[in-house]
Amino acid sequence: MREFKLLIDGRLVSGAARVDVVNPATEEVLAAAPRADRAQLDEAVAAAKAAFPAWSVKPIRERGALLAELANALEARRDEFTRLLTLEQGKPLSEAHWEIDFTISIIRHHATLDLPDTVLKEDARQKIVQQHIPLGVVAAIVPWNFPMLLLVIKVAPALLAGDTVVAKPAPTTPLTTLRFGEICGEILPAGVINIIVDHNDLGEGLASHADVAGVAFTGSTATGKKVMASAAGTLKRLTLELGGNDAAIVLDDVDPIEVAPKLFLAATMNAGQLCLGAKRLYVHDSQYDGICEELGRLARESVVDDGLKLGTQIGPLQNKAQFEKVKGFLEDARRNGKIIAGGEVLDRKGYFIQPTIVRDISDDARLVKEEQFAPIVPVLRYSDIDDAISRANDSDYGLGGTVWAKDLKRAFKVAARLETGTVWINSFLDVSPDVSFGGAKQSGIGVELGQAGLEAFTQIRIINMAK
Ligand code: NAD
Repeated sequence: MREFKLLIDGRLVSGAARVDVVNPATEEVLAAAPRADRAQLDEAVAAAKAAFPAWSVKPIRERGALLAELANALEARRDEFTRLLTLEQGKPLSEAHWEIDFTISIIRHHATLDLPDTVLKEDARQKIVQQHIPLGVVAAIVPWNFPMLLLVIKVAPALLAGDTVVAKPAPTTPLTTLRFGEICGEILPAGVINIIVDHNDLGEGLASHADVAGVAFTGSTATGKKVMASAAGTLKRLTLELGGNDAAIVLDDVDPIEVAPKLFLAATMNAGQLCLGAKRLYVHDSQYDGICEELGRLARESVVDDGLKLGTQIGPLQNKAQFEKVKGFLEDARRNGKIIAGGEVLDRKGYFIQPTIVRDISDDARLVKEEQFAPIVPVLRYSDIDDAISRANDSDYGLGGTVWAKDLKRAFKVAARLETGTVWINSFLDVSPDVSFGGAKQSGIGVELGQAGLEAFTQIRIINMAK
């Protein structure tokens, strides 16, 4: 494969070292990505700091126009990005297409947004104006499940707001980000965005850097807590999008044949490595057997293979560490529940596991309590909706959730009692660039997307003028 470079101060440079990037479907090395050292991290932050004064005073429409150019450039390379994403991440081409298309639409949407001044008060005595001013250098730290989407969700609003950026992908999925860096280097002024790659060793240095004013982080709750501690030294602004253990609550009036495929997709998209995926299903007693049967059939019939192959529905897990971790969840499912489909890793190269449906599992099983991040789906039974809601809420997480029902009024009442940042009724992952999302409880702080997601990359300034 071609060579990839870091982007520092508008120049494509080699890393101080290299990190092998593995195709999770074959376990073969795809490319040796450049790996930055601490000195290169400092160079990247210094370049972003130097670029900030000119970038932040550029009229917002000009920054927006450059974002629109970026979206066009990405669109022109849509197929190349899609294929590269599948190669490094493992997801089927159809899902990679979805991610790249959504990535483009997020950039395009931000190109049109504005951060106007608001006159809060004006009378004979005074005028008070509220402004949104940029923070300075912002760090964007991204995990491996949606490398492009979770990158631009940070980069697009940060750049539009007038911040400059140092971005860091996960070490197992850096290639699409580095390719994106090449395009940014052609379109944006030097230093406005810098891209470094590490081996899980530079995140802390970035999050604690004295010249970084804000950190936008997506990843696990455990690492999010470390980021918060790192940021405390200089009181950085923080957006944390962390783990989840989303409940799907299925009411008694659904049609199991209609709902089961949607539940199955919600639980197994991206091989279950989805922060907002359905990770525990609570199904009413009257529907329990029917839904379990359908889910079992869908799991047995789904095509698990290399994401590059046409027809693949579920690709491999993204990396070896995750693959090893997930074996523990399969063991837990065997011990604490009844596996009705799947239950094994595939006997072939690559980090593949069979989609697995587990019924009659106890509430305190690891598979129910923890975030599995794999296509292993616990199905739990309830007979009283209050009980289902309290079990769904019995979690330190509070990212998302879904409710499935024919009676929408009843569904809304259930949704309104879930302690999460988002609840979908009869749909799933219906995300849009103009709708904010964020986590309740230990699933995060702040929101991304929407006007609020843009404003998160700014500081409010009040100008209070006496007349
Ligand atoms: P992770 O927390 O291990 O890593 C995420 C990123 O943080 C990587 O780039 C990593 O290199 C970096 N990092 C590692 N140590 C760091 C430190 N001390 N300081 C700063 N950065 C550091 O997460 P992961 O395993 O790559 O991703 C999976 C997790 O991400 C899951 O828990 C999932 O739910 C969560 N996630 C959340 C959302 C959301 O929007 N809430 C979206 C996708 C994934």
